[in-house]
Amino acid sequence: MKLLVDAMLGRLARFLRIFGYDTIYANDLIDYFKINPVPDEKLIEYAQKNNRIIITKDYPLSKGLRNKSLYLKGEGVYNYLYQLKRRLGLSFDFKIERARCSNCNSPLKKIKDKSLIKNIVLKDTFNHYNEFFQCSNLDCKKIYWKGTHIEDIENKLEKKFNI
Ligand SMILES: [Zn+2]
Repeated sequence: MKLLVDAMLGRLARFLRIFGYDTIYANDLIDYFKINPVPDEKLIEYAQKNNRIIITKDYPLSKGLRNKSLYLKGEGVYNYLYQLKRRLGLSFDFKIERARCSNCNSPLKKIKDKSLIKNIVLKDTFNHYNEFFQCSNLDCKKIYWKGTHIEDIENKLEKKFNI
């Protein structure tokens, strides 16, 4: 399932990418369309052409799209993830091999020899973790590992989803 996340939901877009969902963020299309903000009709056109479901907090936008959009209620990223689970059947089991870059949505690739990134990550991180991944987009190259930040997210999700 491919997603397009509306402008006011940037944090949600990053979370979805981390959980492996191919997610375009509306503000990332500003350069593509050369309009800021990207108007609704352009978002709709893009989503339809690329077979993406629009996730939005804008009720009029979602109303015109019926089953090609999801209208989110309330506030907070964990609340939104819960609605995505309930209503689109998304699951949020973190697997770093299938995570996408939170910055740019590109797939990650495993770093075979961690000494290659010794000077890029903090010393403690380098010493503590053995498995690192890197964004495959050469303009980005962000480094990823399964650290405590991911465990925090997993714990919060577990709490939220077991209510
Ligand atoms: Zn990236």
